[in-house]
Amino acid sequence: MKISKEIQEFLLEDALERFLRYVKIWTTSDIKSASFPSTKNQLELGKILSNELIDLGLEDNIHDKFGYVYANLAPSEGFENVKPIGFIAHLDTSQAVSGKDVKPVIHKNYDGSNILFSQNKEISLTIAESPQLEEYIGLDIITSQGDTLLGADNKAGVAEIMAACVVWKKFPELKHGPITVCFTPDEEIGRGTRKIKKKLLPEICYTLDGSEMGQLEIECFDAWGATIKLKGLNVHPGYAKNLMLNAIHIASRFLSELPETESPEHTEEREGFYHLMNLEGNEEEATATLIIRDFELKNNQNRMSYLENLKKLYELRYPGLKIELNFLHQYQNMLIFLEKEQRAIDLAKKAIELAGLEVKIHSIRGGTDGTKLSEKGIPTPNIFAGGMLFHSRKEYIPTLALQKASEVIINLAELWTN
Ligand SMILES: [Zn+2]
Repeated sequence: MKISKEIQEFLLEDALERFLRYVKIWTTSDIKSASFPSTKNQLELGKILSNELIDLGLEDNIHDKFGYVYANLAPSEGFENVKPIGFIAHLDTSQAVSGKDVKPVIHKNYDGSNILFSQNKEISLTIAESPQLEEYIGLDIITSQGDTLLGADNKAGVAEIMAACVVWKKFPELKHGPITVCFTPDEEIGRGTRKIKKKLLPEICYTLDGSEMGQLEIECFDAWGATIKLKGLNVHPGYAKNLMLNAIHIASRFLSELPETESPEHTEEREGFYHLMNLEGNEEEATATLIIRDFELKNNQNRMSYLENLKKLYELRYPGLKIELNFLHQYQNMLIFLEKEQRAIDLAKKAIELAGLEVKIHSIRGGTDGTKLSEKGIPTPNIFAGGMLFHSRKEYIPTLALQKASEVIINLAELWTN
């Protein structure tokens, strides 16, 4: 069923009103915090949302002490036996830029010229930086005032899910099975699923945390951490000939053997890399910390064997030097898990097309809540929320994206009833 003009207008109005309201609530997470959620303000937004879900008549409402919000929407009549699905978005915003006192600005009928910011004259938003803006000419664009991020990541997702709930309640002719809504804290600091209650979630979920309109993300990096520890031998430098094994200096030679072309700054799209994050030590001992990323496990395994071979080579080259290599699998490419639930992907594509958008399959050069959930046995593709230039002062979203993402949610729920 095609969504009527009336419902489309309603979705836009409702999602927009919510978005403008939610972004004003300061929910920056804090990686240095040991508490859960990492910042108290996230509880404030969670409370508001939980109350709104109660007012809307959703059931089993929970706002737990960790900041997670859960609620269930009963199926429309006759669809009680449909497979339940869930929609997830995160409450926090990135620490990269301040998220305090966000004042959203709507630039009506964007004409393609540079967008200026009233609170930051140094920056402007241009098509050169975000080519998608070209497609958004004629639309209304929301930005911050340039002194904060906007918070479309991920309050757009939150607003879109909420707007869909409102519409399901208001227009009972829309078909859907049982729906679970879940809002998570601390996604930006990698803790979004740490305290999630898996038993409260359906077997299939979708995060609304992607970027560009039309985007569908079904794969992420296969991610490894590596530590390389070199144990050398220190001797007085004046008497060190043929004796000293300078661990930190040898470490720098070892690390220079990593191909420069396989680094984050030289790779894009589906290319993988080694990324040196830290090197510390002295003559006696040196430790390097790296991450290794690729979409193919095999390519990462090749990178790890390259490091193993270098270790052997360096231990031969410097007799007495000991090198310890440790690898930790951080997360897997979620495509492995999603492929087992092809229907979840196919219906998401269809739902995006039904909203009149071109499906843009995208590979996440990182991980998301959905990555971890997929690993935990809940296949969770990531659908666009519409925000662009995440984690920056130039973050923006076309208002149409708020409507379109809500439409995708409604379409998707209906497609699962067939
Ligand atoms: Zn996000």
